[in-house]
This record gives sequence, C-alpha cells and structure tokens, in this order.
Amino acid sequence: MSRVAYVNGSYVPHGEAAVHIEDRGYQFADGVYEVCEVRGGRLVDETRHMDRLERSLGELRIAMPMARRPLGMVLRETVRRNRVRDGLVYLQVTRGVARRDHAFPKPGTPPALVVTAKNIDPSKGEASATKGVKVISLPDNRWERVDIKSVGLLPNCLAKQAAREQGAYEAWLVDEDGFVTEGSSTNAWIITKDGALVTRYADTGILKGITRTTIFDLCKREGLRIEERKFTIEEAQNAREAFLSSATTIVMPIVEIDGRPVGNGAPGSIATDLRAKFHEVAEIV
Ligand code: PLP
Repeated sequence: MSRVAYVNGSYVPHGEAAVHIEDRGYQFADGVYEVCEVRGGRLVDETRHMDRLERSLGELRIAMPMARRPLGMVLRETVRRNRVRDGLVYLQVTRGVARRDHAFPKPGTPPALVVTAKNIDPSKGEASATKGVKVISLPDNRWERVDIKSVGLLPNCLAKQAAREQGAYEAWLVDEDGFVTEGSSTNAWIITKDGALVTRYADTGILKGITRTTIFDLCKREGLRIEERKFTIEEAQNAREAFLSSATTIVMPIVEIDGRPVGNGAPGSIATDLRAKFHEVAEIV
C-alpha cells in the first residue's frame, strides 16, 4: 500500500512529497508540529492537540494554516488515505517559504502545512510495556522555551541517539540544579512509596504533554494523588514506580534508570493500570 502525504493543499505520493528549499522550517526550524495517536481510525485527544497547536503558533506569531474544522478534515483524510487503523498522524506548520533572511517574511506570507500518517503495530508498544523500559539521564541543554512544540529538536535527537547507543529507550533530561525536566520526546513521572504520582510542573521548562494532561483526568477518576514538583534521578531510582508518557507511548513503565532498577525491577502495577485505562478517559473522535 503506497503512503500519501498532504503538502500545502495537495495529497501526493509520500515518496515524492517535498517542500521548497527556502521553507523556513528547513532553513531555520521555524515551525511547530503535533502528533496525535490514531486508534481504530479515530483521533485521540484531538481537541487538546489543536489547542496546543494554536498556542505554539501564537507564541511564535505564525498564523494557523487553516481553521480548525478544515484542519481536522485534512488530518482525517490523511489517516483515511493511508488506511491507518492504529498509529499516528503528524502535522507540521512552518512560517512558510521566503527568501532566506532571519527576520520574519513580509506579512501575508502563507504558513506551510504538511500532514503525514502511519500505522504502528500496537503489539510492539505492548511488548515494551510488559517488559518495561530503561532510561538514562543526560544534561538538559535545550533552549528556555521548550513549552513550544517547535520542530527544532536537535538536542532531543542527540539525547535519544545517546539512549539508543546505551541500549535505553529514552533519555531523561536533567536541569542545572539536578532535577529531571522530561524525556527527549516524553514526559517523566515517578510514583512515591505512598502512592503519589510526581511529575514536573509545566512552566516553560517542559512540553506540557497532552497525554500528561489526560493522565491527570484519569488520576482524578481513579482517586490517585498527583504532585506537580521537581524530582531528582536519585529520588526516581528509589521510587516505587516510574514511567514516561507521550501520544505514541501512552504510559510506558520504566524498570531501570542509569543502570539501577526501579522498585523490584518489573513494570509497576499503577503504571500498568493507567496504561490499560488511558483510553477510557481520552477523547476519541
Ligand atoms: N515532551 C517532549 C519533549 C515531547 O516531544 C513530547 C511528545 O512529542 C512529550 C513531552 C509528550 O507530549 P504528548 O503527550 O503531547 O505526546
């Protein structure tokens, strides 16, 4: 089955999909993106992803490429044309194409929009969750506005690659004071011995994950307590459980941090339960 991408108004074969060399996303990483889980052909938490897209664009003074409703239709059409049942839909908006100059192009330059979608075999994530995953820690050397879901991901790529090279699933990033901010593409969580879920508060120092927000809803329903505060790698290693979250990993139990087992070294029961129940509270349309 051949894949199809949406590029600035047209659906084109994935292998031929291209943007101009002076697209500001290509030149300056001057753009933002979103990733939505697709489940049974439907979008998970679309409203929250669209809210965050609008916020990211607003912070960078890039216009929405089209209104929300037609954008939702493009996302669904891309999912449909790629016959995605379970997987993800990716969208990227850049400040558009203009002669290379660091300053913004002239007003009215249309933002560029690219949408792709792909199937992901759900059994792969389930296998990882059953075994649990390993994380390593690295210094957080990103800029100070990582609350914006920018396509400028070079430090994140370097961190993920370092994790892969050390046989780990994710790298947890640690700030100058020794506190974990988040993972290279996921939010970071621990569960204390008395059963409280701890995750860093969402200021400009982390990306406020949509999965994170929906986990808050699930915890409320389940009567679980959340503490939004900083924690260290040492606290995480001594925690009852640890896990990471994102639209593509949902809740992924962590069994080892920097070579030390978390809890009894097996996926924790609370994280495993949250993973099983996540889609009961998520918006799926
Ligand atoms: N933190 C970072 C740096 C990310 O890149 C992502 C997702 O891509 C997340 C957290 C999790 O966000 P979400 O739950 O919206 O996927």
